[in-house]
This record gives sequence, structure tokens and C-alpha cells, in this order.
Amino acid sequence: MKKHNFSAGPCILPKEVMQKASEAVLELDGIGLSLIEISHRSKEFVAIMEKARSLVLELLGLEGKGYQALFLHGGASLQFLMTAYNLLDKKAGYVNTGTWSQKAIKEARLLGDVMEVASSQEQNFNHIPKGYSVPSDLDYLHLTSNNTIFGTQIKEFPKTNVPLVCDMSSDIFSRQLDFSKFDLIYAGAQKNMGPAGATLVVVKEDILGKVSRKIPSMLDYSIHVKQESMFNTPPVFAVYVSMLTLQWLKDLGGIAAIEEINERKANLIYSEIDLNPVFSGYAAKEDRSLMNATFNITDDALKDTFDTMCKEAGISGINGHRSVGGYRASMYNALPMESVGVLVDIMSELEKKG
Ligand SMILES: *Cc1c(COP(=O)(O)O)cnc(C)c1O
Repeated sequence: MKKHNFSAGPCILPKEVMQKASEAVLELDGIGLSLIEISHRSKEFVAIMEKARSLVLELLGLEGKGYQALFLHGGASLQFLMTAYNLLDKKAGYVNTGTWSQKAIKEARLLGDVMEVASSQEQNFNHIPKGYSVPSDLDYLHLTSNNTIFGTQIKEFPKTNVPLVCDMSSDIFSRQLDFSKFDLIYAGAQKNMGPAGATLVVVKEDILGKVSRKIPSMLDYSIHVKQESMFNTPPVFAVYVSMLTLQWLKDLGGIAAIEEINERKANLIYSEIDLNPVFSGYAAKEDRSLMNATFNITDDALKDTFDTMCKEAGISGINGHRSVGGYRASMYNALPMESVGVLVDIMSELEKKG
């Protein structure tokens, strides 16, 4: 039996995407060769890369607006360094909303002056800081749109003239935003798009080429743009599966359609958390993530029963991150509504037992 996969990442992907991806490993579109044994310079793979890159811009509404989509290696974690390498000349600002922001800050500090513009660390990142001012002399402001570990999500982005850089690893393609407000967006593929191994970077071309340092080729966005995301062998399988997921999303009606579904899934679980005295939410209500719902059990004596019930129902991946504890239900784009229903039923059944 296929389990209800609430994993925070790598995470669930659409069933039809998995089917098609597994077929392509054996043979790609009747060409007599596997996807993973052909040249990345072959016309078949070049077409896949081009399709993936153009679907990204199309879905984000960024076509013809001076942006380039790149599929790179190294995960979102390499982007912590790469963004600073390419954009940090004198001083950058970071909003510290959790573990991933902190890692980004640490890498940027290797290269320049980094200012923490706002932080929610004192409350163990249970909310998104608001009402802070952004100095106008920053090279860029770095944000983390969705904090996968703590279950918070930025609903309103700061208004500033400073270029915006955003780690959208765990909520890209999940909700509508004016993506043209951002100058650089990055996301590890494995949260909402594909398997681990590819990292999506969407960069506005006119912010590049402004720092004085020399940039090693592999870390230089301009080189990747010029080489059409083929500077070296790209992670072909991860790019292919990402392309299939993006096509799946487009066929579904794009981000607007999936956002509505994501809202319904999130409403279902959060209303149970709020109504059921056995559970309490971790994140501040107004900052709750539509992707990762973090919650605790209020009566420790019921924990074993809850865990057993979840296990028996085939629920997988809901343990909270070690820095928060409790539970975390990740509800990425491909998680069916039905899975959330199964979890919520168990939660309400537990209340009756308690
Ligand atoms: C998972 C995650 C990362 C790290 O991604 P890697 O691809 O493993 O480097 C960074 N930022 C956020 C918000 C994440 O959820």
C-alpha cells in the first residue's frame, strides 16, 4: 500500500510524474535509449532543459521580463554562498526566520558585511518578524519565504527599493505571488518540484555583473546564463522530473489552481489543530505555512497511541524537526487532499479516546 507521505523533503511527487519518470529511465520517448544514458547535448535532452526552463518562467509569470531560469547543482545550500558571491559587494541584509536563514547568513558573512535586519530567534522562530525597516544602502535583502522547519510563511513581503533575494525552496509554485518583485529566487528541487540534485535559480539578468570580486566559473550566474544552464553536465534526471512536475502543474491550471487546493488542505488541518484540545499549533496563526503545519500534542500520555494510529493508517513523515519537536505535516503540491483527511480523522478520533 502506498503511504500517506507527509515528508518535509525530499517529498511526495505526483503519481503520474513518477510513472513517466520511471519509464524514461528505461527508455526515453521511444528513442531506444535511457534518459540517463544519453548525452546532455543530445537534441532530446536539450529540448527537455529548454522546456523545463521555459515552464518555470511561464508558471511564475516572468516570461519576457528579463529573467533567466537555471537548473544548477549543489542544492539550496550552495545558493547561500552563490547569491552572496554574485551580489554582495559591500553590505547585505538578511531576515533571520530560522535554520535555513541562519545558514544563508553564515555563508554570506564569508564574503562581506551582513546585517540581520530582523529576527524571530528569541521566540524560537515561531513567527515572521514584521514592521522592520530596510536600510536603503543594502546590495540586497535576503528572505526565506517559507520556513520548512518551524512552519511559518511570509504572507506580506517588505516594500523596499533594495533588490530582493528569496529562498523559496519549500513553497515555490505553491501560491500566487508577484514574482517580478524578486530579483533572484532559488529553490532546491526536492521540496515541491522534483528529486534532489537540481536547484532552481530564477535571476533577473540586470542585477548581475555588479560586484568587483572574481567569481569562479561554477559559481558565476552569468556563465550559467550564457551557457543556457549547460555549463557542465546538468543533473539530467532531476531536471527531467522537474520538467514533468511543472507540466503536471500547468495542466492542472497552474499556480492559481494549486494554491486553492493547498489552501483547502491547510485549512482542514489547522481547523482541526485549533478545535481539538489534544493538539496545539506551533507557529503564530497569522504566519502559518500552507506547506508545513507544525503542532504539538498537549497530553504526552496520548503520544504513543497517536503514533500507533498514524502508523496503522499508513501515515509517514510527520515527526517534527529536532529543533522544534512535536509533529510536522508537510503538504506539498502533490499531497492529495485525501491524505490530509486521513490524518485529521485520526486526530479527532484521538480526542475521543483522550
Ligand atoms: C530544505 C531547504 C534548504 C536546503 O536545501 P538543500 O537543497 O538540501 O541544500 C534550504 N532552504 C529551505 C527553505 C529549505 O526548506
